[in-house]
Amino acid sequence: MKQLPQASRELLTKQLYDRFSRRGIWHRRLLRPLHTFPWLLLLTCAEGLKRSLDFLFSLSLLLAASPLIACAVAFRSNRSLPLFATTKRAGRCCEPFDELSFASSPRILRRIPVLFNILKGDLSFIGPRAVSPGELTPRERNARRRYNARPGLICLWWIRKRANIAYSGEIDADAEYVESQSTRGDFGIALRALPALLYGEGVVCQDTVSILNVTIHNLTMLESLEWIRQRLAMSSPAQVCFFNADCANIASREPPYQTVLNQSELVLADGIGLKIAGKLLANPIRQNVNGTDMFPRLCELLSETGAGLFLLGARPGVAEKVKDWVQQHHPGVTVSGYRDGYFTNQQEEDVVLQIARSGAALLLVAFGAPRQDLWIRQYLQRSGVKVAMGVGGLFDFYSGRIPRAPLWMREIGAEWLFRFAQEPRRMWKRYFVGNTVFLWRVFQARRQRLIASNVSSGPEGGRG
Ligand code: UDP
Repeated sequence: MKQLPQASRELLTKQLYDRFSRRGIWHRRLLRPLHTFPWLLLLTCAEGLKRSLDFLFSLSLLLAASPLIACAVAFRSNRSLPLFATTKRAGRCCEPFDELSFASSPRILRRIPVLFNILKGDLSFIGPRAVSPGELTPRERNARRRYNARPGLICLWWIRKRANIAYSGEIDADAEYVESQSTRGDFGIALRALPALLYGEGVVCQDTVSILNVTIHNLTMLESLEWIRQRLAMSSPAQVCFFNADCANIASREPPYQTVLNQSELVLADGIGLKIAGKLLANPIRQNVNGTDMFPRLCELLSETGAGLFLLGARPGVAEKVKDWVQQHHPGVTVSGYRDGYFTNQQEEDVVLQIARSGAALLLVAFGAPRQDLWIRQYLQRSGVKVAMGVGGLFDFYSGRIPRAPLWMREIGAEWLFRFAQEPRRMWKRYFVGNTVFLWRVFQARRQRLIASNVSSGPEGGRG
């Protein structure tokens, strides 16, 4: 064995002595509080800053809202009720407190007294939702973590729910907030709450929603994955399409694409455009289910079921990088084959044969819409796969060729803006012209729907 030089040996011996001798151990014990003290100080300062901001903002808002408060008191609808109603809530460390509201006042003013709770320190502006005692019991670790922070009026989960991307549960979103909490992060959440307010929340959701002549299956991410799991075990193959505002524009121009969409076994609503359309057409969309968010979850499903994956599409070398990503992050997944998406018509037969021979059960095709969906429809039976999905630019994201929009942009429904900034020449028409055309068509459809419902609820329609 190679000997260390004398100087290094002496240094090593000294280091070991300093660390593990009786004197060294005592020395470290005495110094430990000195190491933790700056951290404690920093945490206390951050906590103090948040509390001070809450105090100042709530006081200013209360002062600004004082005329409204006076109106709410003066115009109470029921004077026999007490002025304030209280609701028991679990606060920080599960300590109960009474959340205040006006007992009988116009609905819009009802929640103003919650500012007194913020002033007092029961609540914060930003923090996990204040739940009723016992609603989210701190059984698992993440659920306990959410009670480490003061509850708030606006939380990360609420924002994600409104942007239709609350794929993980409330407890996980809260734990994520508590772990990454900072003053800057809180400002970010407050800003993201503004578009979230505009998006609103779906109330009653139907199982299928028709948007611009395409029928969408109104499933959540988890429900879609369960559907795919079941189809992977069935003998007849199924096609899955993701449908966004751009797809709707293409479908209106290209009837064969619209037919394929309506023939597909599953069509999922992708993007904020569909959420807005669903809202305007009084048919709320449950969740934004897009291929890029689904992919890691699909990989988990494939590891569990042992079904093989085939990656077809994108520029040469990209699918291979996605295969590497899968093998690195989900080693349990079998990638049965991969191939780029640039081949001639003559090579098409070879491609189909390659997929069939690979024995893959799930095929992802990344050619972009509508080509990928038309291609799948044509070759689904012969490819031998159980489920085939058109996934657009997914390979470009997972290969690292194109970075994906940061989470905060997805939370405010601005992923499209990020895509535009990356490839302005290619995307300007799709987003600026396309989104406008899409919204205009949605408004037309809404107008027709309102006219039709007025006709059917009129005296003649009612009798008929
Ligand atoms: N593509 C392909 N073959 C082609 C044309 C395009 O494989 O003949 C790939 C292209 O490299 C890109 C994807 O199809 O990876 C389309 O990406 P886009 O961002 O247009 O898809 P979107 O998600 O927007 O539908």
